[in-house]
Order: sequence, then structure tokens, then C-alpha cells
Amino acid sequence: MRRPDPSVTTGEADESNPVECPYCGSTETEREHPKGPSLCRSMHFCHGCGQPFERME
Ligand SMILES: [Zn+2]
Repeated sequence: MRRPDPSVTTGEADESNPVECPYCGSTETEREHPKGPSLCRSMHFCHGCGQPFERME
């Protein structure tokens, strides 16, 4: 049982902790590549606005 805590916006890329879209602010995002192109970046896709985005970790 998890619920989002609006006071915590660190946005760590974790399957159980959705990343907030930088374009529309939606948390309806999906991590596209589990391992990502590098250790410090990961690719995500926003279902809210349909934009892919890259996130630094
Ligand atoms: Zn979006």
C-alpha cells in the first residue's frame, strides 16, 4: 500500500516510485530501459503527454 507523498519530490527513478514528467508534471510515466544507456541516466516515457524524456539519477 503506497501513496504518493507530495512533499517528497526527489523523483528517484524506481519502479515503485514514478518519475514526474518534466513537461506536464504527470506521474503516469514508464521507465523505458531498465538498465538505461548509462548508470546515471534513464529513459522514461510519459503517458500524460506522450513525450519521452531522460532523467539524471
Ligand atoms: Zn508528460
